[in-house]
Amino acid sequence: MHLPDLKEDCSRCAALCCLAYPFAPHEDFGLAKAQDTPCPNLCKDFRCSIHTDLAAKGFGGCVAYSCAGAGQRVTQELFDGDTWRDDPDLLTHMTYALRVLRPIHEALLVLQEVSALQLPAGLQARRRELTQALCPEDPDSVWDFEEDSVQDALAAVPDFVENIAPFAQGRS
Ligand code: SF4
Ligand code: SF4
Repeated sequence: MHLPDLKEDCSRCAALCCLAYPFAPHEDFGLAKAQDTPCPNLCKDFRCSIHTDLAAKGFGGCVAYSCAGAGQRVTQELFDGDTWRDDPDLLTHMTYALRVLRPIHEALLVLQEVSALQLPAGLQARRRELTQALCPEDPDSVWDFEEDSVQDALAAVPDFVENIAPFAQGRS
């Protein structure tokens, strides 16, 4: 099983989070924009023109956002380093893939953090089982992450987290 990098590396991404989601000003974004539309603050080189001033300009949501490594994985592994700037036809495919992979990476991050807990053997086995199911073998398209085996495991993570909650109490 190959556990992907679960920390974002924006230098290896095509700024996918700056396109993929709709913004509404009341949601801690300083402007409104539609899904699959580049933020007007995004530069041609995928940098943010207000990066050093995000919170002050009303973009606290950008400061808080994490893709848990899904962005660079979509760009590098599923699209071989190609970008929507090079080929605009890729834009909606890449943003769709980010929206599929991000919750999977967030779930993997939770399961990784849980591994530090003293859990009964059955729950540790379940943690490994879910982690494995969320890591399909040699994925090369978003379809690999939409398989029932992956999506069923993703849907099972909240119940698993509820089950391990008593073992997490007292830790901080
Ligand atoms: S999608 Fe993730 S890796 Fe890509 S720019 Fe956004 S935070 Fe960075
Ligand atoms: S403000 Fe900057 S970080 Fe936030 S979406 Fe726009 S370009 Fe991306």
